Amino acid sequence: MIRLDGKQTSATLKREIAEQVEQLVKAGGKQPHLAAILVGNDGASETYVASKVRACKEVGFKSSLFRYETTVTEAELLSKIEDINSDRDIDGLIVQLPLPKHISEEKVTEKIDPSKDVDGFHPQNMGRLALGSPCFVSATPHGIMELIARYNIQTSGKKCVVIGRSNIVGRPMSILMSQKGIDTTVTLCHSRTQDLKEICLEADIIIAALGKVEFLKADMVKEGATVIDVGITRVPSDKTKSGWKLLGDVDFENVAPKCNFITPVPGGVGPMTIASLLFNTLKSAKKEVYNS
Ligand code: NAD
Repeated sequence: MIRLDGKQTSATLKREIAEQVEQLVKAGGKQPHLAAILVGNDGASETYVASKVRACKEVGFKSSLFRYETTVTEAELLSKIEDINSDRDIDGLIVQLPLPKHISEEKVTEKIDPSKDVDGFHPQNMGRLALGSPCFVSATPHGIMELIARYNIQTSGKKCVVIGRSNIVGRPMSILMSQKGIDTTVTLCHSRTQDLKEICLEADIIIAALGKVEFLKADMVKEGATVIDVGITRVPSDKTKSGWKLLGDVDFENVAPKCNFITPVPGGVGPMTIASLLFNTLKSAKKEVYNS
């Protein structure tokens, strides 16, 4: 069994990005610049945004954080996005989700200029992904594809089961795993899927992205499978300083002995997500997806 080490792989990816930034600046280019909008003080969102800002520093990016109280109006937020869209110094913009109920996430997502949408959530990027055209692939699916490529996991002709059909993980994963060059045969499962255990037992690769702690059990996985655990759920713990720990969607202890490859939680998919956001921002700065 080989553990897919997201910590180490993301460190490698970040090193590669930092080298490219250095070359870019040496050649007279500007530092890539990522902007983030954070509304309110939700603990998890604060942590995510702080680690994104820290990661920018690590690779030599500029970053700007725009903070708003939860009382901000939708119009104010949309107007800020317009300003950022036309700011030539900013290459990428992310709006940390979730947003307060009175603000439409759909409107906010669609307001972001697709050429700065480094989260890859804009319909134009999702549509291009489905068509196999150049686009920003959302960070978590991109991170998973990097892990698969860098560990040389065989995909062509294999059976892949994705559990969860969200727009940010499951659905884009199902598209990526069926694209030309990857060539798995994909089954996309969700909360209404019947006979999930039988479907999983057929799979060479299982990607669990449903947000249910230790859902995937050993009796659902065939010998020699690859298992990618996307889930991260905070559960109370008296053994950590923070008072909580992270658990995945896979019963790691019992599933791992059956696998050829498996990601741990934490230290698997999670670290790859932030590195992929940086990757997209660099691509945007280099105008590799959209030319203008
Ligand atoms: P979501 O709640 O939007 O979607 C969950 C999906 O799982 C739904 O499509 C639903 O149909 C499916 N589902 C629910 N119960 C099911 C069941 N019993 N059987 C089969 N399918 C079922 O979740 P999401 O935003 O895609 O996130 C999923 C998990 O991944 C969460 O734990 C989230 O925290 C985590 N996540 C991790 C990262 C990362 O960087 N590691 C990034 C994004 C999300």
